Amino acid sequence: MSESEAAVVVTSGVKVEKAAAAAAAASAIATSGATDSAVSALRFIDIGANMTDSMFNGMYRGKSKHNGDLRDVLRRAALHGVERIIITGTSLEESRAALDLARHWNSESVIDHCAGIDAAAAADSDTKAAAEVSEMTPSVPVLSLPRLSVTVGCHPTRCDEFAADPDAYERDLRALIAEAGPLAVAVGECGLDYARTQFCAPETQRTYFRRQIDIARDTGLPMFLHLRDAHDDFLDIIRDHSPVAAAAAAAEAAATTTGEEGGGGGGGGISGGVVHSYDGTLDVARELEALGFYIGINGCSLRTVENLETASSLSQERVLLETDAPWCEIRRTHAGAAYLTREWPQKKADKWASGHLVKSRNEPCRIVDVLDVLAAARNQNPVTLAEAAYQNTLRLFFSAESESPSS
Ligand SMILES: [Zn+2]
Repeated sequence: MSESEAAVVVTSGVKVEKAAAAAAAASAIATSGATDSAVSALRFIDIGANMTDSMFNGMYRGKSKHNGDLRDVLRRAALHGVERIIITGTSLEESRAALDLARHWNSESVIDHCAGIDAAAAADSDTKAAAEVSEMTPSVPVLSLPRLSVTVGCHPTRCDEFAADPDAYERDLRALIAEAGPLAVAVGECGLDYARTQFCAPETQRTYFRRQIDIARDTGLPMFLHLRDAHDDFLDIIRDHSPVAAAAAAAEAAATTTGEEGGGGGGGGISGGVVHSYDGTLDVARELEALGFYIGINGCSLRTVENLETASSLSQERVLLETDAPWCEIRRTHAGAAYLTREWPQKKADKWASGHLVKSRNEPCRIVDVLDVLAAARNQNPVTLAEAAYQNTLRLFFSAESESPSS
């Protein structure tokens, strides 16, 4: 299966030999797993992970299959260089849950001991066991668990909730953003999804997409955007509010009002944004780039040969990496799977075991898979690409922090 897909990729014009070499280089660095060099050689920010999903509490389709294992998931992410995770808020309620989760993990236990991790996980996944192992091995290097941030907004398929009492919903979203302070790094997930209009009519989606653009403009936060099968309407709505339009309007305003400061919101536009889980055409991607948006790549962006060709043509300055966990893993049937370089130890959910991923449940450590496939498709050094994506993410979501040397 993957061989035939690889052949398809060859005929598509992607230079497979060099790509394979790049993938091998990524593999040599990243599969060394728990070593310190792996942690330091590659660093990631997963810009989209649904960490409030019940699967991380062991619940699958309403059935309990195992104990919650978020601590293990966060440790694995840290061991693979994930320094930060932006938890996706998909509704008012989910955004609130995301904020609670971020506060909990950011305050409770931010460091762990590398050498203690496997032993502690093997013995027992609870905090006490880990602490005992840490005490027994006090000189091992410390590892920070990923810092968690959140987005606050309403997904297009959830906009009927917004429509039930629009003013109250909007007021509560704004209040949550204010309450979250620096933990809220984007407005979203919002946008348009015409592939799933059974959950919310297109007109309703458009109305509440616009309202969330207003929130982003007023707060100065960038946007975490969802776009599926709706690019014409999406571009029509966002074009006049794009970062590039905002910058042009701000420059014009500054030129006409001499001596006055041109800062702040910038003439009806938003400060920036990413179209996450991008699976559209190269033409639309080009227009989004030209409007000043970033493009988020995860497993759903690497499913087909066409996807790989689009991803391989994106501007490096506009690429962000994400997992969309627990969704969008790279499956064996996807075109991108030809470039996967590692096998993860996995068990089915009802056979959960320490040190194993759960089959079919994506998680942030697998951002290294996204990097491997994207770097190979782009015929690019994965270390260079990872660092470019990392810097792009700082620029979009953490510019206030990256201006000061301390984190
Ligand atoms: Zn989405």
